Formats: sequence, structure tokens, C-alpha cells
Amino acid sequence: MSLTSRTTGTSEIGSLCASTAGLAGAVGLFAAACASIALQTADRHLATATFGYATGSLAHVDVEQLLLTRREFLTATGALALVPTSRASDRTAVVPRAAAGKYDLVIKGGRVLDPSRRFDRMADVAIEGGRIGTIQPAIAAADAADVLDARGKIVTPGLIDLHVHVGTADLPPAALLADGVTSMVDGGSAGADTIDALVRVAQAAPNRVRIFLNVARTGVTGRELIDIEAADVDAARRAIARHREWIAGIKVRLSENVAGERDLEAVRRARQAAGSLPVMLHVGQTFSPLPKILELLNPGDIVTHIYSPPPNSLLDGSNRVLPEVRAARRRGVRFDVGNGRNGHITWPIVDAATRDGFWPDTISSDITGPGRKVRVFDLPTVVSKFLMLGMPLDQAIACVTNHAAACVSAFKGLGTLAPGAPADVAVFDLREGDFEFVDNVDARRTGRLKLVTTAVVLNGRRVPGQAS
Ligand SMILES: [Zn+2]
Repeated sequence: MSLTSRTTGTSEIGSLCASTAGLAGAVGLFAAACASIALQTADRHLATATFGYATGSLAHVDVEQLLLTRREFLTATGALALVPTSRASDRTAVVPRAAAGKYDLVIKGGRVLDPSRRFDRMADVAIEGGRIGTIQPAIAAADAADVLDARGKIVTPGLIDLHVHVGTADLPPAALLADGVTSMVDGGSAGADTIDALVRVAQAAPNRVRIFLNVARTGVTGRELIDIEAADVDAARRAIARHREWIAGIKVRLSENVAGERDLEAVRRARQAAGSLPVMLHVGQTFSPLPKILELLNPGDIVTHIYSPPPNSLLDGSNRVLPEVRAARRRGVRFDVGNGRNGHITWPIVDAATRDGFWPDTISSDITGPGRKVRVFDLPTVVSKFLMLGMPLDQAIACVTNHAAACVSAFKGLGTLAPGAPADVAVFDLREGDFEFVDNVDARRTGRLKLVTTAVVLNGRRVPGQAS
């Protein structure tokens, strides 16, 4: 089954809702039901979202469940006889609007690119009540309280950066909002002893911040697991219990200079502390070979810095991707970029892995205050590196929207422009020219495309200080 089949289920429901709403007596009630069904469907879509592009496998998609839901819905509403015989596939409207109604904001004239629904075409995006209302080929400006001119621009879901460090004064979460990052995960800056301050940062942020708690009580110090007893499972669990809303997973850094020879024990403890939450593993230059580490992971766990240079990279001696890495992906382990500054990505490793078909599931920046100025800069720049490396635009955007959302339960329902979803939107110039990008050893390469953020909408509100 293809992703398209799944999403057709969603848009059919939307179209049906739109087309039958006009016939139904209680239009308001029906519209509410439609919105609710659409939301549930979108949620289910996200819940079952897999990395079809990266894995080439969508075998476990529950299309039947989707269709059953639709049928149940039709039966329940007595609308079965009204099923349209032709599919209005261009319509994505879910909530029909009263003719004279006003939208809070309409983003007009852009190329709307929403990989969560394989949607890529010129369209207008209407926002109301902080949520995506409808996406149509043309929405009258007169129907909008505010219009954002996106002609010549790319319009995507707000970006999700799965790996940042925003606990320090030199990089508050708000600084990433102008880049289009509406949601992010701090990857291990804080541990059980230091978590409260980071939670306060997350609470105060305008954009959404969740935290992967460092299994080491101290958080990142450089050598935080040289004494393995710093990985305190009980302390981590107590911290999670205290901040359930904010801690979305556990982070463990495994490079030999951080965790010495006890990397496998560190993973075991991280897994134990995490319980049903995901573990994010920082790999690269580990004491143990990657396959030994991967053996300890659960589906949903995330390996970051996948293109780290040796020792113990994802490649074998012939520069092919290790079979154990592919096997881990097949059983649901996710592979993330984590650009960072040192030891995490070099062009030859990416070249070899991608030549062997191994592209990332998610693209994250691993940005820090210093990384803002060198090698990383911002998430759109890191995405642009992957455009240079040969990743198609829609797949690169998927890596920072729906794929990233699927990694964190608190981000369920984000990373999409599905009607009813929170209205987080990023607008980009896709500039053409010669753009220089560097890897972690400052090797230079020139790309022809660069994404530059020109406008951001968070929860339906325009982020001030940007053009148009
Ligand atoms: Zn990091």
C-alpha cells in the first residue's frame, strides 16, 4: 500500500464532508463532526506514519483501518448513499465555511508542500482559530482578515528540529523561531540534577520545546559518562515523573571520549530509564561497534549523528552500509542527522551511505550557541545541505516535518498542513545560485539551492519581524 492510498482516505472524508454538508440540515453539527473525523484521521495517519521514502516499506500501514473508519462514519451519519462517485481529489477542504465567514489569515499564492499528505501544488492556505482551515486553489483575499503574500515561495508545515541545545542564554528557543522552527527537542543538555532550569526555558518559549533528558545526572559536560554511575536510572525516572509534560525521551551520548568503554552499559541504563519513551543515542567514535549498540534498541529509538566518521561508523570496510543498520531501520529504529560542529558528519561518509541508499529519516541541526556561527547556522541550512547531496525537496522537508513529528508523542498532529492541525507554517525562498556548505571538518562544497525562511506562522499567528 502506498502513502497516497492512505492519504486518499483522508481527503475523501474531507471531500465527502464538504459535499454532504451542503445537503445536511444541521450544517453546523455536521461540520463539527467532519472536523472531528478529519482530526482523528489525521492523527491516525501520523500515528501510523512510517518513513516510506527512507525504508521503501510501508507494509504495516493500516489502510483498512482508515477505510473502515470512513465506512463506519458514513454509516453512522446515514450518508452512505451520498458517497460521490468521482473523487474530488483537488479539494482538501474539511470544514465547510459559511459563505460570509472570514479567515484569520490566508497564505496566498505559494507552492504548498506538505509531505505528510504528498501535497505539492500552488494553493492558498486558510487559517482560523489557530488551526489550518482549508487549502484551496484560490481563496478570496476578501475572506481573510490578514493576507500573507507567498507568491514565488514554498509553504511548508512549521519545521521540527529533533536535536537542539537551547538551555543556555546564547541560544534561547525563540532564536530558532525566525528560522521556521516551530517545535524542537533539546537533546540531552540537562540531566536529572539540572532539568528544572531547562524545563523553565521550555515553559517560557514561544515555540514548542520538549526535552530528551540526559541519562547522566549532570547533562552534557563533555565527559559526563566517564564514570558510568552518573547514569542514574532512578534519578532519571524521578525527573521524568516530575516533568512528564516536558520530558519526551532519554538522551545518551556514547562517544568514547564521553562514555569510555562502558557505552553498552550506558545504553542499557538509558533504555531502562526511558521505559516506553524513546531513547536518542549520540553515536560516532564509540568504543563498541555500532551493531552491538543497535542490538539494545527498541522500535522508535533514534540514532543521531548517523553520518559520523570512524571509528565505528555506519559503514563496513568496503564503504557499504552495515546490514545491522538496515535491519535496525526495518524494525523501527530511526536514523537522524544531528549536524553539530565536531565529529558528526563528513561528506565522504554521507556520500558512501547515500550511494548505498541510506538517507536519513530525520534531519536535525544539533545547534548550539557556537553552532549558530559556524558549520551549523540554522536548520534550513542543514536541510539545504541535503538538497545539495541529492535529496529531493519533498523528502528533505519530510525529514523536518512529518517524519520528525512521528518521533515524539507530544508532537502528534504536528508537521502537517492537514485541515484541523495546529497552524504552524513556514514560508521559504528556495534561492538558486552558488551556495557554499561545510561539513564538520570544514570541507567545502557548493550547492545550487538554499532554503531561506521568509515568514513563520505559529499557532495561527504570524511571527513578527519578517517580510510580507
Ligand atoms: Zn547534541
